[in-house]
Amino acid sequence: MSYQAEYIWIDGTKPTPLMRNKTRIIKDGVEPGIWGFDGSSTNQAPGNASDCVLRPVFICPDPIRGGDNKLVLCEVLDIDFQPHESNTRAACAAVEAKYADQEPMFGIEQEYTFFQYGRPLGWPEQGFPAPQGPYYCGTGGEKIVGRDIVEEHTAACLDAGLAIEGTNAEVMMAQWEFQIGVLPPTAIGDQIWMARWLLNRVAEDHDVVVSYDAKPMAGDWNGAGAHTNFSTKAMREDYDAIIAAAEALGKNADEHVANYGEGIERRLTGAHETAPYTQFSYGVSNRGASVRIPWHVAQAKKGYLEDRRPNANCDPYVVARLITETVCGAAAK
Ligand code: ADP
Ligand code: MN
Ligand code: MN
Ligand code: MN
Repeated sequence: MSYQAEYIWIDGTKPTPLMRNKTRIIKDGVEPGIWGFDGSSTNQAPGNASDCVLRPVFICPDPIRGGDNKLVLCEVLDIDFQPHESNTRAACAAVEAKYADQEPMFGIEQEYTFFQYGRPLGWPEQGFPAPQGPYYCGTGGEKIVGRDIVEEHTAACLDAGLAIEGTNAEVMMAQWEFQIGVLPPTAIGDQIWMARWLLNRVAEDHDVVVSYDAKPMAGDWNGAGAHTNFSTKAMREDYDAIIAAAEALGKNADEHVANYGEGIERRLTGAHETAPYTQFSYGVSNRGASVRIPWHVAQAKKGYLEDRRPNANCDPYVVARLITETVCGAAAK
């Protein structure tokens, strides 16, 4: 007998890549191995040299097909087996290895917005829903839309063995969040990408599109972020290390903001629970700061910090690499 392996990868679309997938039938007892695809159809290669290589990096049970079927997240390589220029995972893995002694760990809060027929799911054809206020962590008809998709996605993540931690309805109608963690830099990237793919796939069955746009609706509506919670072994033991981490992030703010996702200037305006992208700040409990130290962390004098700047459409491999480099690099000096 054979099983189905769904090979999944991140393409070369700019400024924000798309996820791609295709099915391979594999004999029972055989592990998913190297495969390939046509990079000229994914913005990853020219037509006259179109072959790109898929190397499996994270394999889990396929909760959509069930049975012995598998999901196979891959990294993209050139045919000489070097990382393709669109491959941001390889650099993340290298930084993780360099600072392994500091034990960096991440939890990401992935926000997103459901769309259908060109507007947020459940929004009226003309005009707007009632203003923000009742939607965040809300319940009830005409207020909360898409919960059936969220429930299916959560079950799928659990069946796949992902480290999903929770979900909540967000501030804008049709906006939601799930959290994944606590994981090392490369693994948080793998699992966020896999969870995004599962969300796209589950929503497809409902004829719904998942938007990771940082500011899907202009005006008095919240944007969508990917708050990135971070700690090292030292931060989990000592408050001074948390302050040092926040200070280090402040010294390298421009490079982070430039790599935290397309449209960050539309989202980090200073309104809607954000700090302006041009001004770095950190503070205890402050949801208007770039970096927040949760109250329970300040009280316990140990734990983690929350970088509130990454967009929903960020690349978690890039975000995890940058934070690890900046914070662990400063601590190693
Ligand atoms: P909020 O919405 O209040 O900002 P959430 O409950 O949505 O917070 O998310 C908290 C996040 O913090 C989770 O993703 C969790 O994994 C992460 N986290 C908790 N402890 C640590 C830690 N020691 N290091 C890194 N991340 C952590
Ligand atoms: Mn949250
Ligand atoms: Mn949130
Ligand atoms: Mn948060």
